[in-house]
Amino acid sequence: MKEIGRKQGAASPCAACKLLRRRCAQDCVFAPYFPADEPHKFANVHKVFGASNVSKMLQELPEHQRGDAVSSMVYEANARVRDPVYGCVGAISSLQQQVDVLQTQLAVAQAEAVHLRVRQTATSSSLWNSPTNSGSPSSKIMESQANSIFEMDMVVVDHTSYGDSMWSC
Ligand SMILES: [Zn+2]
Repeated sequence: MKEIGRKQGAASPCAACKLLRRRCAQDCVFAPYFPADEPHKFANVHKVFGASNVSKMLQELPEHQRGDAVSSMVYEANARVRDPVYGCVGAISSLQQQVDVLQTQLAVAQAEAVHLRVRQTATSSSLWNSPTNSGSPSSKIMESQANSIFEMDMVVVDHTSYGDSMWSC
């Protein structure tokens, strides 16, 4: 994937070997993923995971998965450096909260859609039954039924939305 890093191997070491002050071998496990022109990429990974752990983790993976593993480790390491307490869990938690808020909004929108549909049905059926009298008592009954359906949905929404947080597991 990053053949540039490997080609430069002999002349200039990859970013990892440069930071570790060691000779970058032809088969350096870091070289394809930590090219010399991105020195900061390895620094945080080394700080958080340790170079020997990263090396071990990469060697245990098939080559086609190493690029993704490096990307996720870089992301995790950067998040940990930025937020020493929560690391990438901070990002996961904030996204989880956004999902909860959006699910609540979606449920409210769906309940409103049901409400409008029921009202529309009530209006059209009252027109159908008594076309000359739109303010008939039957349409008022239908409307109050529509409201109660809407309120029932709201109760369900409140019950489910903030129930399970990621901290409960
Ligand atoms: Zn190297």
